[in-house]
Order: sequence, then C-alpha cells, then structure tokens
Amino acid sequence: MSKVVILRCKEYDLDKIYPKIKWAINELGGIESIIPKSKKVLLKPNLVVGTDKKNAATTHPVVFEAVLKLMKENDYDVFYGDSPGIGNPTKVAAKCGIKEVADKYNTPIGDFASGKTVELEGHATNSLEIANAVFEADAIINLPKMKSHALQRITGAVKNPFGTVVGFNKAKMHARFQNAYNFAEMLIDLDLYLKIDLHILDGIIAMEGNGPRNGTPTPMNTIIISKDPVALDAVFCKMIDLDPTRLPTMTYGQEYGLGSYEDIEIIGEEINSFINKEFDIPRDKVKHTEKTPFGLLNKHVLRKPYIKEIDCKKCGICVDVCPLDDKALTFNNDDKSVPPVYDYSKCIRCYCCQEMCPYSAIQTKTPFIGKVIYGLKLLK
Ligand code: SF4
Ligand code: SF4
Repeated sequence: MSKVVILRCKEYDLDKIYPKIKWAINELGGIESIIPKSKKVLLKPNLVVGTDKKNAATTHPVVFEAVLKLMKENDYDVFYGDSPGIGNPTKVAAKCGIKEVADKYNTPIGDFASGKTVELEGHATNSLEIANAVFEADAIINLPKMKSHALQRITGAVKNPFGTVVGFNKAKMHARFQNAYNFAEMLIDLDLYLKIDLHILDGIIAMEGNGPRNGTPTPMNTIIISKDPVALDAVFCKMIDLDPTRLPTMTYGQEYGLGSYEDIEIIGEEINSFINKEFDIPRDKVKHTEKTPFGLLNKHVLRKPYIKEIDCKKCGICVDVCPLDDKALTFNNDDKSVPPVYDYSKCIRCYCCQEMCPYSAIQTKTPFIGKVIYGLKLLK
C-alpha cells in the first residue's frame, strides 16, 4: 500500500509550510529512512521556463526553501536544478526565484546544460540522454508543480522528472515518441531508471486551463507528499475530479511497477475537502495523438494547437521548438510580420509550441468532426 500525505497549506509562508512538510516526512518514516545521511541529494523543482512565481508555472521558492532547509538542518549534501524547455538553467532558476533561495543556503546548481546517453531496457526506449547532474546525485527529491498539461493532461510527480532530459532533447523526444501513450511509456522508463526517493508536489497555487506554462493560477491549498509518484498523481487527479485510469501515465505507471493508483493509504487531511470539480481540464480519456484510421480527415479529428493571432508577437519561438525536421509550423515565405501557420497534416500534436509560447498565444481544441467521432466512440 502506498502512503500519500495530504497537507493543507493556504499560503506560501515558510514558517507554516516547513513544520508541515517535516511532519509529513516523519509520517513516511523520517528523512533518514528514506535517504541515508551519506547520500548526495538532488532537489529537482519544476523550472519549465524563466517566469515569475506568481504565474504558477514553476515550483514556488518557498516550497523549495522548506525542503532545502529541512535537508540542510539534517546535514545532507544538497544541490539542485532542472533543465528548462528553453533557456539557460541558471538564468531560468534565477527568474523563478529558486536561485536566490539556493544561494541563501550556499547550495550549488548541478549541470543541467549537458548530459550523456544511458542504455536501459525500457518499455518504450532503450536509451535516454540525461543531464550530468543526475549522475552526481545519490538520491533525488522530486518537487513538481500541480498543473494541467496539453499532452498528458496533468503534470505532477510522474511527468516532472522529464526535466532531467537536457534542453532541446526534450522536444526531440516528442519526435521519437509521437503519441501520448508511447510518450507516457517513455516517462515511466525514465522514472524507473531514476528511482526517485521522494516526491513533494506544490499545489498551494496550481495551474489550470492552458498549462503547463500559460494556464491560469488557481488555489488548491495543498502540498502532497509520497514515495510513490503514481499514487501521488492519483490523489492529484482525485482532487480535480479526474479519473486516473484515463491517463496513460497512471495505467502504465501501475502496470510497469512504478507505483499504484489503486492501493493508497491517505495520511493527513481528508481528500474530499480539496475536490475542485470546476478545475479547468478535459476529463475524458487521453487520446492517441498519432494518426487515426481516418486518413485525410486526421487534421479534422485530432485535438490541435492554434494561434490566437491577436496575442501573437511573431517571436518565432514556437517555430524553433517544433521538433520535426520538416516543421509543422512555419512563417509563410519567411514573413515574420504575420503569425506563423500550421500544416496540420505534418503536426504530431506534441504541443511543444503551445507549451513554449511566451505570450499565451497558442491554445488547443478538438475540431468539430473530432468531437463527433469521439462522442460516438468511433475512436478511443
Ligand atoms: S511563440 Fe507565440 S507569440 Fe511567438 S510566434 Fe509563436 S504563437 Fe506567436
Ligand atoms: S506544430 Fe506544435 S504540436 Fe505540431 S509538431 Fe510542431 S510543436 Fe508539435
């Protein structure tokens, strides 16, 4: 049975959060039973982009500080870091307010700018390129943010370790694993390889809607802690009234032995008082984002990204991050005075463009024909 601790935390106040996290870890057996004292520990927040903490796209510095303070007080050798989707890891950590906290505790950043390829016997892949920082660490504490996600529906404990894949390699992984299901299998392969020791999710202010970068901050008033990332994300799902069996990260996570979405013991606060049925997220089953049997109709069936032209600043970041060699999103005739345009027959629906647009100009929607086909259950 996987233990999951639910804490009620209504504000980013270190004096209130720190003792609660300490109590929760003691409920899980105490920090030294989870990570032996001699281990060098990597703290892995979500630093998807350099953005202000108020946007709720990244792990809040106060949650990071509470965990760092606890580790330092217990004399652990700690470092931190994450590889953002775009930008220099140190500069991004500074913009998110994490570096300032780390500096206060004389905590260095790890090497997330370069990495090496590891061989593994995975379900989706037999190789992954992982940041050097991972190989410096004896143990990892995962510090995800509670957010919606266009491809996997949520990003929490199972998805956050994807930040150990270096920089643009993350986008390239979407070209390798072109649908939500084999991408989820790859995430499970990665998590099984990393063997993360502890997961502490920041859900005090979560992100709903157009996540994981451009969604809407919304209070969920919680921190969730577990040694089992699948169980933790299952509790996150229940809080937002989302059936965990609709997510391939949950079903593969349980099937491949990463954790359990069924066999959970909740400690701490009672879950029902956190349930937010209005949390803005699709609650249907995650769709296969590969081609459908409908051939030429594909582009009218699959949920697609689109640009709200009025918000587009023509910066071209979406074009740069499209992982396909033959880009599915380009400036027509290289004309950067108008927004780029999609070629939906090429697009693999990885949503990297939606994730990385700095101006929230890209959203996603299922076309009308797709809604009919899915509504009639002609496709799962
Ligand atoms: S990233 Fe966003 S703002 Fe920049 S060109 Fe693309 S849609 Fe426009
Ligand atoms: S256009 Fe966007 S969703 Fe389509 S393949 Fe490129 S980055 Fe992915």
